[in-house]
Amino acid sequence: MNPEETLKLVAEEVSKCNLCELYHSRKLAVPGEGPGNSDIMFIGEGPGFHENEQGRPFVGAAGKFLEELLASIDLSREQVYITNVVKCRPPGNRDPQPIEVETCTTTFLDRQIQAINPKLIVTLGRFSMSLFLTNAKISQVHGQSMRIKGRLVVPMYHPAAALHQGSLRPVIKDDFAKLPQLIANADEPARIQIEEEENKQDPKQLNLF
Ligand code: URA
Repeated sequence: MNPEETLKLVAEEVSKCNLCELYHSRKLAVPGEGPGNSDIMFIGEGPGFHENEQGRPFVGAAGKFLEELLASIDLSREQVYITNVVKCRPPGNRDPQPIEVETCTTTFLDRQIQAINPKLIVTLGRFSMSLFLTNAKISQVHGQSMRIKGRLVVPMYHPAAALHQGSLRPVIKDDFAKLPQLIANADEPARIQIEEEENKQDPKQLNLF
């Protein structure tokens, strides 16, 4: 199966999924969207109100800011793959529960990552960051590229965080400004290499970043 076929199949499965509680309250599941050969993959937390209505990721206020950030590096949302840790809206915008994250990522997100095989994964917010970095603090690692489990990953603040806290806007913009160079150098060793074992160690170790 080629990447587009795998993404289509995953999207079909997502739309019918009933593997966790979230399917009860969703209107539309939100599998993700973008080309199967994207260099960059953005992973947010989960659909919000507007995403649940439209079945598309990042179409509300945070999405508008994400589009602005992409435009600042001459990219449009059609050129990148955008998805979330969980594909259905947690009711009342509550945090996704560990079992929901585990079920959704092992059933869908892992296959999306494998199919696209992006040069760079950008995690947006702490839920997607913690898929790769178990004990890190976003305030300490944002904007830094790390090779984790063979993937080049850059954790970033969630765009919605900047909508609530204006001082984060320039921080996210600066982090985005690093992306073109990171993609250009994606085949070179990352500045920080984290093996799975290290990643499980206690938080003090990760404070080194
Ligand atoms: N926030 C997210 O994390 N994902 C979306 O799709 C929209 C808002």
